[in-house]
Amino acid sequence: MADGLTGEPVNAAQRFGDMVERFGDMAQRFADLAERLRSGARVLPTQLALETVCGCNARCVMCPSQGMRRPKGMLTLATHHLMADRVAESGAAIEIISHAGMGEPLRDKTLPEKVAYEKLRFPAASVMVFTNGSLLDAEMGRRLLDSGVDVVSVSINAFRPETYTATMGLSRERTYANVEAFRDLLASTSGPRPRLNVSLVRTELCGEDEVGEFVRHWTPLADAVVLPPTIAWGSGPALGGGVPRFPCLYLWKVLMVDFDGTVKPCCEDYESSVPFGNILQQDPVDVFNCETARRMRLAQLAGDFSRPGICSGCVETLEPAREWWESASPLLEPNVGEAAAPERSGRPAAAGK
Ligand code: SF4
Repeated sequence: MADGLTGEPVNAAQRFGDMVERFGDMAQRFADLAERLRSGARVLPTQLALETVCGCNARCVMCPSQGMRRPKGMLTLATHHLMADRVAESGAAIEIISHAGMGEPLRDKTLPEKVAYEKLRFPAASVMVFTNGSLLDAEMGRRLLDSGVDVVSVSINAFRPETYTATMGLSRERTYANVEAFRDLLASTSGPRPRLNVSLVRTELCGEDEVGEFVRHWTPLADAVVLPPTIAWGSGPALGGGVPRFPCLYLWKVLMVDFDGTVKPCCEDYESSVPFGNILQQDPVDVFNCETARRMRLAQLAGDFSRPGICSGCVETLEPAREWWESASPLLEPNVGEAAAPERSGRPAAAGK
């Protein structure tokens, strides 16, 4: 097992004591949840994050995909349908399906068919596509609209042409034209239409003046302008001992699947170095509750974020996790011997990274 996820959590008693002191109710909840896990309860994922394409046409400075060692590829339509069927029949209560991963989803010309199939198999789920927009031409825009997709989120990351090209390695002229034309298409649509979000991850190349220009340009055009935090890709700097940390929500709600069926904890693990299993060979809920995932959940519930190494400096265990636990609950199957109905999450899971 990668990262030595064995043995008892480090200084668990002391960390749990600190948590009780500062966040008493939440600490008790975590202790109760740990007890339920030890009694055999299983966690049901509520979000399916499915990488349909591994490999990108962009060269973003903040993304490690160009140096990534794991194999690149694309999910075929048949394998996608098999994965969707297996998840739909597994008992997972999927509320959100997101397409991002380590590739550009619109390189896949069958993406609209995949989204349409997901809407068929998961009629209550919201389907989100994260794209760099460079391939969002008129035909793809129309097909995505017809697919029933709920959110198209375009990662643009700059406003000025020279910054855009240096940041993304793509043509700013083409991307801006694509996204503005897609916005016009949505505006002219009388029926249901997806939300259009645009996002900018801050980099050293884009100063705060330019961030302001970006926000002013897109605010009247998009449904939301998002400035997400930078991802550390599993290499975040050590977090100080006095910083309150909380169990990462990804471990409790997101079934993150690579294009080859491998399940991993989150997108920080871009090399898939902490595999939970593979949904093409195993039941998806079994994979989500494998021994590695169970140990990670128990360790974090006890305040130990040291293993695997990708978690040790991860900002997802700070505010995002605290806010989630304050407003939501994971979905558990009943404890062994317990007849209670499963708990439902308090609100839909947020979009994947
Ligand atoms: S703590 Fe961070 S690195 Fe660890 S599973 Fe959660 S999101 Fe991934």
